[in-house]
Amino acid sequence: MKITAVDPIYVKMPEVNTAADGTQDSFLCRVRTDEGLEGWGESDASPLVCAAAYCCPMSHGNIINIRESLLGETLDGPEDVYRLHAKATRLGMDIQQIHHAYSAADIALWDLVGKKLKQPVYTLLDGASAKSFPKRPYASVLFGDTPELTRKLAEKLRGEGFTAAKFGWGPMGKVSRENDIALVREARAGLGPEAALLIDAGVVWGHDWETAHQRAADFAPFKPGWLEEPLLGDAIGDYRKLVTRKPAVPIAAGEGSGRYHDAEDMLLNGGVNFIQIDVGRIGGITPAHRVRKLAEAHNVTYVNHTFKSHVSIAASIHVFASVESFKLLEYVQGGSPMSQTIVADPLLRGPDGLVRAPEKPGLGITMNLDAVRKYLAPVRIDIGGQSVLVPASV
Ligand SMILES: [Mg+2]
Repeated sequence: MKITAVDPIYVKMPEVNTAADGTQDSFLCRVRTDEGLEGWGESDASPLVCAAAYCCPMSHGNIINIRESLLGETLDGPEDVYRLHAKATRLGMDIQQIHHAYSAADIALWDLVGKKLKQPVYTLLDGASAKSFPKRPYASVLFGDTPELTRKLAEKLRGEGFTAAKFGWGPMGKVSRENDIALVREARAGLGPEAALLIDAGVVWGHDWETAHQRAADFAPFKPGWLEEPLLGDAIGDYRKLVTRKPAVPIAAGEGSGRYHDAEDMLLNGGVNFIQIDVGRIGGITPAHRVRKLAEAHNVTYVNHTFKSHVSIAASIHVFASVESFKLLEYVQGGSPMSQTIVADPLLRGPDGLVRAPEKPGLGITMNLDAVRKYLAPVRIDIGGQSVLVPASV
């Protein structure tokens, strides 16, 4: 089949604030073909910067927009998705945000190929005989503003049946050592002794690996499964110093990887125990799956990073559904009304509390177009009186 339309789509809540909550807006990509099929994808990046990468005029041979790279192309199987990933990122090599922006297109292409071949994405990635293993969703939330509010939030999640939860950002690292410890202590108290507790420091200690090492020791009595992003995403040498000194809690990082090689650097040189990959940032399912393979080869645990809608949750789970030993799934709990409604059939927890990759073709989800229309922020870009981007009709 041939690609006939590539539509960048910006959706947002009426109000967007400074909370570290990525569900307030989103960048979607819809790709259509001459066979009447359409695929959808989502990036976790600034939507308007992404939109520009789909329509910016050519500057020279290394700044060619994504839409131009894809329109008219053949799309019949996984080999075409790999080929087009290489083509679009090569032609857009000097567009700084090309990988972030292309993530949505790559996810949409996998969705399309799955629909054409009537297979779920995970079997396209790992072979027809691949088996899907359920994942344990951890509710991913921000710390409450105080230890007491964090405890209440943890109790609420426990009441909702979660056996794993991650608390992040908010006041962590910004008040005092005692407050940091109290946040973790109250999170544990609210979740109960059996649940998996994960802590996300939200890069708050920058390059200061010694404080990160100290906090890991401080938090260890509350048995967190990992300490996530205690340092900046590009502080690779500092991550190495931290893990070399054997912190009391395993270290997780990688969500900031904007290219495959960033993740490779974090995994091989940073030396983290858990590599966290966002399909909406690294360039889509194609490079995320490559990182998963690298993680398997080096005995590092792969886990998704996702703080968007169920488009991204679906895309994420297909990447590692077939690996039994990678058990945890980041699962946004709550999030904006927009992120909760733009997918008509979200990946809900089963009766056993676990989440499974859809077995339907492609990503296995259906967009709720009424919700997409409701939150649509129409974008038009005109240059010299000529439109290079007009609002997509959804
Ligand atoms: Mg994080």
